[in-house]
Amino acid sequence: MADTSTKSDYVVGVDFGGTKLYAGVFSDKIENVGTARKSTKPQRGVDAVIERIADVVQEAVDEADLTLKQIKGIGIGAPGAVAGETGDIIFAPNLPGWKGVPLKKSLEKLLGVPVFVENDCNIAMLGVYVTELKSKPRNAVGIFLGTGIGGGIILNGELYSGFNHTAGEIGHMVLDPTGPKCGCGNKGCYEAFASRTAIFKRLQQAVKDGEKTVLTDMLGADLDDLRSGNLRKALRKGDKLVEKVIEEAAEYTGIAIANLANILGPEVIVLGGGVIEAIADEMLSIIIETAKDYAMPGVMDGVEIFPSKLGDEAGIIGGGVLAKRLAK
Ligand SMILES: [Zn+2]
Repeated sequence: MADTSTKSDYVVGVDFGGTKLYAGVFSDKIENVGTARKSTKPQRGVDAVIERIADVVQEAVDEADLTLKQIKGIGIGAPGAVAGETGDIIFAPNLPGWKGVPLKKSLEKLLGVPVFVENDCNIAMLGVYVTELKSKPRNAVGIFLGTGIGGGIILNGELYSGFNHTAGEIGHMVLDPTGPKCGCGNKGCYEAFASRTAIFKRLQQAVKDGEKTVLTDMLGADLDDLRSGNLRKALRKGDKLVEKVIEEAAEYTGIAIANLANILGPEVIVLGGGVIEAIADEMLSIIIETAKDYAMPGVMDGVEIFPSKLGDEAGIIGGGVLAKRLAK
């Protein structure tokens, strides 16, 4: 497994999600040499989760037949606002109790390896940028549609994190101030229209209102345990309700892209996340068409919009890239 990298050149990338932890060990050339997965179990409290992150890192390192002494740095993508300098989690909307948590310090104490923390979508975009886009476009935007909607912005070849390290919150761009309530407390954010959570809420409400869908045959009347894969199955069966709701989510995504393109003028817009992985084929043409309709004339000329092929791997690769760049 291990390649010709010198032993201290290995790095670890960790995708720290609300439900899953995923760690990967990478060589200096960002080749994966070992991975490990674990559930997050946020209900067990902050300290327990930090220990589980340390465990998943150790398991991945062991899987690669290495020891922690051979790891130069660990890059972690965390689901929330991160203080770049201290590596503290300022706030994580989907993780109860995660306010002002010194994640970097705690993990460095447990593992004895330098740790670098960034927002999860920024990290995923860094992974996409370096491996999938080969660091070629000067300006690129990543939009990740999952439980929420996150983004990552590359400007002049660098990840743009902004004054307070909070840039790239694409999901909280307000598209309609009279729209549905968002997890952030505002109304009508892009995320409140097109995230998996928003799509599922709309479907559940429609079923309550008496609309018909094959989803109730698959999952029962409450649509409990609805997953992105169910949406794909329903669309393949020609389900009209799911078609309508997905079309709207795709249109809102197109509008969000038009706004971003008007402001940033990126060459490439990459889409990712669970919703895109499941139904990119069904959404993509509507997204592109709507983006062109809403953008200023000329803005979308030659701009590429496509789904990332990295899937789950984007987060761990991005973590590895971050650690490689920042570890001395
Ligand atoms: Zn919001």
